Amino acid sequence: MSLSRRDILKASLAAAALGSVDAYANTSKEPNATHHVLAADLPKKSKNHPRVVVVGGGWAGLSFAKELKINVPKADVILVEQRFEFMSCPMSNLWLVDKVQLDYLVHDYLQAARENDYTYFQASASGIDKKNKLLLTSNGAIEYDYLVLAPGIDYDYDLWTKGDKTLENRLRNEYPAAFMPGSEHMTLKKKIHNFKGGTFVLTVPRGNYRCLPAPYERACLIADFFKTNGIKGKVLLLDEHEGITIKDHGFSTAFKELYKDYIQYEPNSIIEHIDLEKKIVTTEFDEFHFDDAAFYPPIRAGRLIEHLGLAKDTIYNRKEANIDIFTYEAKGKENKNIFVCGDARPMGFSKSGNTANTEGKNVAREVAARILGKKHAWESPVTVCISDISFNPERGIFIHSEYAFNKKTNQFEFATPVTDEVWKGEEGLNNAKSVYGWAESMYADMFQGGFTKSYIPKSGQKKQ
Ligand SMILES: Cc1cc2nc3c(=O)[nH]c(=O)nc-3n(C[C@H](O)[C@H](O)[C@H](O)COP(=O)(O)OP(=O)(O)OC[C@H]3O[C@@H](n4cnc5c(N)ncnc54)[C@H](O)[C@@H]3O)c2cc1C
Repeated sequence: MSLSRRDILKASLAAAALGSVDAYANTSKEPNATHHVLAADLPKKSKNHPRVVVVGGGWAGLSFAKELKINVPKADVILVEQRFEFMSCPMSNLWLVDKVQLDYLVHDYLQAARENDYTYFQASASGIDKKNKLLLTSNGAIEYDYLVLAPGIDYDYDLWTKGDKTLENRLRNEYPAAFMPGSEHMTLKKKIHNFKGGTFVLTVPRGNYRCLPAPYERACLIADFFKTNGIKGKVLLLDEHEGITIKDHGFSTAFKELYKDYIQYEPNSIIEHIDLEKKIVTTEFDEFHFDDAAFYPPIRAGRLIEHLGLAKDTIYNRKEANIDIFTYEAKGKENKNIFVCGDARPMGFSKSGNTANTEGKNVAREVAARILGKKHAWESPVTVCISDISFNPERGIFIHSEYAFNKKTNQFEFATPVTDEVWKGEEGLNNAKSVYGWAESMYADMFQGGFTKSYIPKSGQKKQ
């Protein structure tokens, strides 16, 4: 798909607004294509060094960039990320209740780029000129040979608000989900710390949502905080699913045995309406009053995917990437050498950091093989997910697994699941220690140079 005159005009205006004098000389053969798009302030693409541009400096994009350089050192890799620094969602539930400091979550894009020999380019990607192989960004157009999109998720409030943008806007601003890092987390932390008592609503959205265990872990840790600080409050966890979606035994026993008076768990709570004036959530079967809340709505792929015409509805969610599920290449001849990975993917893998990290590397090896004229066989992403259950003492549970494709159901399934959901006793204490080992090895893997081994928790090698 090449740019329409309207798109070109928009891009030109955006370029002009930036006040740059550096114009990209259009090479399009299209009649009437008169765009002079601002060129990004980057060295010119060289014929001898394939340029691979990756959009999104999250868990997938960072891992992709590093792994590609390892496999094709001569490649010119550019990581386009709209944020100025990285903030981790994993471990953020612990930060909400003061267990770790903010600098445990925040990391340096420049360090990642320096130590792994690629370029970090701060900009927001907004379009592609596929014919001329140009990525359009808020800081100019970037030429590419291969383009990888890893923009993560966006929220899909429409399923709740049914097009009421005023309500959606209030939910985003006043009751943010805190499932995308930054200000949402800051707001939620203040809410928890200023909570005077009553009912604090959290939600678990329908479909395949980002980080299956995180809403349950968050419920446990906020309940632990209320309990420890003598706050007369409870977490009301409204789950749009029939039951706990992962690590059921661990979470349900914790709800019953540790937080009987602090967590009210309500499965099958499909949300029909939220009245912010009366502070009432209406579900299919009930009405619930709340004093404060963080509403986590259903999710979709990052908007960029839809904007670029690469989205489709999936069996799990609306608007995820329309890609080949084994190679990650976008469908359609015109999308050759454009790939999507991370939480924006349509496959039913766990939408988690470890999964995105290993997948980013797999896709890097796919792209590397194409650059080097080799073949690459599909590799499974790996999910490793450790959740804290309590702090006094600190106890945790975990699951890790690879995936296999089931031809009968036409879906990916857990192939090698190992779980430890026994949080009582020694095992729970060891699992909690693993949380830090895992996070630190992941940060080292994404932000430091050199090789890092995949992290697998040591204790509780129990088959499911
Ligand atoms: C509370 C919480 C706890 C979690 N705990 C765990 C855990 O314990 N273990 C685990 O494995 N996972 C966990 N996760 C899940 C994990 O954070 C995500 O699955 C992971 O971040 C997905 O990686 P990604 O690269 O696909 O997306 P992201 O990490 O979200 O990265 C996407 C990046 O793309 C950028 N971007 C988007 N659009 C554009 C654009 N147009 N131009 C430029 N940049 C753009 C964004 O700014 C962002 O930096 C947790 C998540 C949450 C919210």
